Amino acid sequence: MRKSTLLLSLAVIIPKTKGSVKLYRLFLMAMFVMFTVGVASSAQGHDSRWLGDGRISSGPKINHLFSCQQNFNPNAPGAHRTGPWLQGDKYHPHKKLHVNGKVDWPNARINIVTEKGMRIVRANNLPTHPTGEFPIRQSDPAYQYDRNPNSIREQKILMRLPLMPKFAQSPSCVPMGLTAFTLVGGALYNAVDAGGRDAPAYEILDVCGGHPERSGQYHYHDYAPCLPNGTDQNGHSSLIAYALDGFGVFGVKDVGGRTLTNKNLDVCHGHEGPVMWDGTVQNIYHYHMNDEYPYSIGCLRGTRAQKANTNNPSSAGGQPNQPQGGPRRAGPRRGDGPLAAIARELSVDLNELRRAVGPPPPDINRAARLLKIDPKRLRTLFQQNRPR
Ligand SMILES: [Zn+2]
Ligand SMILES: [Zn+2]
Repeated sequence: MRKSTLLLSLAVIIPKTKGSVKLYRLFLMAMFVMFTVGVASSAQGHDSRWLGDGRISSGPKINHLFSCQQNFNPNAPGAHRTGPWLQGDKYHPHKKLHVNGKVDWPNARINIVTEKGMRIVRANNLPTHPTGEFPIRQSDPAYQYDRNPNSIREQKILMRLPLMPKFAQSPSCVPMGLTAFTLVGGALYNAVDAGGRDAPAYEILDVCGGHPERSGQYHYHDYAPCLPNGTDQNGHSSLIAYALDGFGVFGVKDVGGRTLTNKNLDVCHGHEGPVMWDGTVQNIYHYHMNDEYPYSIGCLRGTRAQKANTNNPSSAGGQPNQPQGGPRRAGPRRGDGPLAAIARELSVDLNELRRAVGPPPPDINRAARLLKIDPKRLRTLFQQNRPR
């Protein structure tokens, strides 16, 4: 780009005498070529993102995801192959394949109201925009990389959030599963897939940037193309989602329309400032989404409100609704049995769970104590996952 500017100045300086017209034209052509190349390469540069792999932290940390789940199974289900869009420690989102298809969800329902000083989000988690066709068809080129076998299914979303959330004493970790619910009907998940990898880099998503996990919950992992991208009268991005702690999640623009990078945001990927909040401009903390890992909420600033419910009975207990990226296989995987299914459900490491329950028959009380899980919930999970 700088080169083309230089050429432009030269071309302007050259006097348009008859003898130099040819030269002038040559300069114009060269300028055009340089300009085109410059634009193309800068667009490509802009397009690539640093891969977030390995940036999971056990406390609040800039450019990291403070994840509640710390151990990830590298063999967890998900995209099984990487594509040419992944190059070293970078990836090119616009070179990725999308899941084909255009499926409408006329029964999508989302209702957000204020009741008794609380914000209540009720929805069935069907998106208000079209999606790709899931499960991914064998004939879909995306199938070469990701065989997501899940269908998009209704969920029961019910979130009770404070209208004016406050900071907790210290930031807390971000769970797997739903971290915020968007105004377009899909759930927002954190930045990683079930294997702890940078989900937007590996998972094959539809053109709207979403896909379903094992229970059928349609969700995004980053600032996906079909999320709201408007701005308010101050040029600040408009609201995209309500987070589990009640704070808002906004797009990439700060007041004045400036694009926000992680350098402008705090450890939790947010900041305090004036935003449209319940119809008026208010100075309140909020999260931002941008193109830099962890893309959205890096840690929760407020207190995590009552967990969103889903109609998936196995996840109704309050824990994360399952692995991210894709849960891929409907039942337990061949060879890994019910224990693996329970480990996935609890987002704990399989070997950790195995050690905790001991040799058969499983010692549920001991395991619950060791894993700090409600024994009732663990017992229910064992009943639901009885070997068949
Ligand atoms: Zn802001
Ligand atoms: Zn996912």
